[in-house]
Amino acid sequence: MSKKKKARVDGDAASAAPRDELATLAEVRRGGGTFHEVIFTTNRRTMASVTNRGATLRLHEQFAVAPARVLHALARLFTAEQESARGEARRVVQAFLAEHNPHENTEPPRSFPREVLLRDEPHLARLRAEFDRVNKAHFGTLLPPVPLFLSGRMTTRNGHFSRKPLEIVISRRLCVAAAPGEAEHTLRHEMIHLWQHVVGTRPDHGGAFRWWARLLDVRPRARRPVRMINDE
Ligand SMILES: [Zn+2]
Repeated sequence: MSKKKKARVDGDAASAAPRDELATLAEVRRGGGTFHEVIFTTNRRTMASVTNRGATLRLHEQFAVAPARVLHALARLFTAEQESARGEARRVVQAFLAEHNPHENTEPPRSFPREVLLRDEPHLARLRAEFDRVNKAHFGTLLPPVPLFLSGRMTTRNGHFSRKPLEIVISRRLCVAAAPGEAEHTLRHEMIHLWQHVVGTRPDHGGAFRWWARLLDVRPRARRPVRMINDE
């Protein structure tokens, strides 16, 4: 009974042969999921969502190579009653996605720390709330937590998403001088880029971006005109 302990907790990931939809469904059900079918999607818009009144679990095909424990976590993510259990499951799934992201995953720390001014905090709290709302409503809460900052140096751009280091930066002028909702609008734009990063595509403003933009009420232009308070 003295089996060698796996060197890594997720060492089973490397040995996993891809499952088809039926085998994936069986594994999810073993983890407690009550779905009747699993549908793999190849578009980059769905990571994991439940449709058809709880009967269908739509998964990005990336999950075909997911270890059993990740599929079990997916089952808990959509069925557990306790938020703490869902939170634990979410971390397992997010770790799998991060590991299978074709981009390099080692995010070096910033060479200089970003400044967070005390007066930025109320704005950042508002933006974090918007992040959580959209993540829950549209991304199955699978977007990873990402540091949010305001910058006073962005004069022409409204915001930016960076993979290295992983962060979203919003122009401070949107928070202090633009019409209500403009900063949130830009945040949603950058969240689509975060999504593209999570599913392993290069952040751009192509077809998938525009699809999300319509869904999230984002005008799909990189440099959209911003309504300033004085315009009102
Ligand atoms: Zn953009």
